[in-house]
Amino acid sequence: MIDNGFSIKETDKRLERLGVNGQEISAILVTHEHSDHATGVARFARRYDIPVWASHGTSAMLKDVDTVKKFDSNKKLTLNEIDVVPVPVPHDAREPTQFVFKAADLKFGIMTDTGSITPHMVAALTDCDGLLLECNYDYDMLINGVYPESLKRRVSGDWGHLENQQSIALLQELGTKDLQHLVLAHVSEKNNSHERVLDSVSAAIRCDRARLKVIDQDEGLPWCSLTTDITSKETLHA
Ligand SMILES: [Zn+2]
Ligand SMILES: [Zn+2]
Repeated sequence: MIDNGFSIKETDKRLERLGVNGQEISAILVTHEHSDHATGVARFARRYDIPVWASHGTSAMLKDVDTVKKFDSNKKLTLNEIDVVPVPVPHDAREPTQFVFKAADLKFGIMTDTGSITPHMVAALTDCDGLLLECNYDYDMLINGVYPESLKRRVSGDWGHLENQQSIALLQELGTKDLQHLVLAHVSEKNNSHERVLDSVSAAIRCDRARLKVIDQDEGLPWCSLTTDITSKETLHA
């Protein structure tokens, strides 16, 4: 499990939709201490006795978690059969990281909560089979929207969140031909829309918009699986 901003009840409900029980979760990795990512971590970890992992900086901020296992943001760790590669990102938290996971010759990256794109992020996300990427806001919607000026500056700053065009530029730099799944995430309900994200990303990377997925904040997303089997493998452009 990556992050948890929900109550135990809500988390159980969401896991149940995926056919998973809390007892089956072997670890919770925390990207950073912001409340939408961290408020539910301590109680869920305690409820099911799950180890919590975070960078040194993030762990210092998770004061309500009984014990946090600390990882070095620049070193790979292995949890069960999965290699976890933390990726440090520019975001206004203590020591935020996003992650790349490698297992069985497959690579899956998650990248949200970052205000800019670094060469290190690009290198880490190259050659992913699946990618979950933030498309947080549309610039015009944010600037003309209801947020106070200070929050507009925070969101659009270098340590804030990714604007749709920044995410598109990252996708174009990475290339999308090997992607089996592209999941667009952390989409602002006030400063963006699913339609806008799907239209702009599918046009920019030239794929059928039905192949893209946007995470709905209430509904989440069903399982997406990755495969190495070339006979059943479908990519975004297939
Ligand atoms: Zn966030
Ligand atoms: Zn954040």
